[in-house]
Amino acid sequence: MNQKTSTGSISREWQELLDFDRHHLWHPYTSMIDPLPVYGVESAEGVKIRLADGRELIDGMASWWSVIHGYSHPRLVRALQEQAGSLSHVMYGGLAHEPAVALGRKLVDLTPAGLEKVFFCDSGSVAVEVAMKMALQYCHARGKPEKHQFATVRSGYHGDTFHAMSVCDPVTGMHHIYSGVLPQYHFAPRPACSFFDEWDPEDISPLSELLAENHESLCALILEPIVQGAGGMRFYHPRYLSEARKLCDQFDVLLICDEIATGFGRSGQMFACDHSSISPDILCLGKALTGGMLSLAATLTSEAVARTISSAEPGVFMHGPTFMANPLACRVAGESIDLLLESDWQRLVATIQNKLEQGLKPCRDFDQVADVRCLGAIGVVELHKPVNMATIQQRFVEHGVWVRPFGTLVYLMPPYCIEAADLEYLCQAVVDVVAVEG
Ligand SMILES: *Cc1c(COP(=O)(O)O)cnc(C)c1O
Repeated sequence: MNQKTSTGSISREWQELLDFDRHHLWHPYTSMIDPLPVYGVESAEGVKIRLADGRELIDGMASWWSVIHGYSHPRLVRALQEQAGSLSHVMYGGLAHEPAVALGRKLVDLTPAGLEKVFFCDSGSVAVEVAMKMALQYCHARGKPEKHQFATVRSGYHGDTFHAMSVCDPVTGMHHIYSGVLPQYHFAPRPACSFFDEWDPEDISPLSELLAENHESLCALILEPIVQGAGGMRFYHPRYLSEARKLCDQFDVLLICDEIATGFGRSGQMFACDHSSISPDILCLGKALTGGMLSLAATLTSEAVARTISSAEPGVFMHGPTFMANPLACRVAGESIDLLLESDWQRLVATIQNKLEQGLKPCRDFDQVADVRCLGAIGVVELHKPVNMATIQQRFVEHGVWVRPFGTLVYLMPPYCIEAADLEYLCQAVVDVVAVEG
């Protein structure tokens, strides 16, 4: 484990950096008046994050689902350096390049059947915006402009831009702050039947009723397949998704699957849709697409949707980011997919699931813990009460691990390359820290 726990203090230079940071730089979901402390990072390699004070932390977060091969992977670094030497960026309007074609080929091959047309964009939230615009333009092109609303389920998360926000859970997504601005869409209750339960046909009834009642005004249903991520880290039954697919066909509503968190093996299948053997009409990818090296996302759709969009006024899809299909990001994404396919990823992820189950099991005995659940390379300890971020973050760092809880959830989703001893250490840190929480 060779845990380096020297708590050397940080240099004057670092002190100044962190001081500027505190006064001028916004971090995700933070206050500018009284932000919690942040830790300076010097470098990261494999599953280790090296802090400014010399401490090394074992990473349990894969930087929010993205760093599946570990940090500074030599193959990804080399791909990026080589690409930077020949073509870092060029506008995508009217120009094409090999890294985008190579990546597009891989995505069309790898994703569920029928997804043939690829739109590259900058980030996950934008991929969701693009997906929603595709669904709207599809209905517009068919002469059904009245089908312009969206349906989803509660406890979802689809990103932070406006239309993505409109389909996030209304409570955890804080819709009240944006009332009057955010469109009001249709929410079914979240799926109740868990991945591990026996399927209960009643579980799909509310969604079925919602679609039956509103299909004339609905263009699409958007779901995170199987794993509801930032909206609650829940794993629902594969039958729910296959039933939702059937309902969408029955009621002439497109199915958008947001695999930004789950894509590329995280749930134990290459895509979470594969648990249900379904293909969505539109698929969003992001996060692990570049192995966590750069921001890149993609929205894929079927021949039929793309053709319909392109066959009627205005005859084009109305979106085109400045950094669309950035060659650096495409090249490193292609390399990351090669690395994944060359690895025994399915066995690695299954082994991580076993180890997470074993390692987190002691948490079940704590009164403060409501549930412990694991699927693929995702391990979740749900508490009854929200954690105290100020103290819990510090405790994890003192234990030599990087774990960042939110709300009532303490969770692990390490890089797939994590070794058994490091994973055991991570789980033990969670057990020790949760033991004294609340
Ligand atoms: C993270 C995430 C997004 C948003 O992606 P960003 O790159 O942060 O914009 C959308 N949907 C899901 C399911 C996500 O996990």
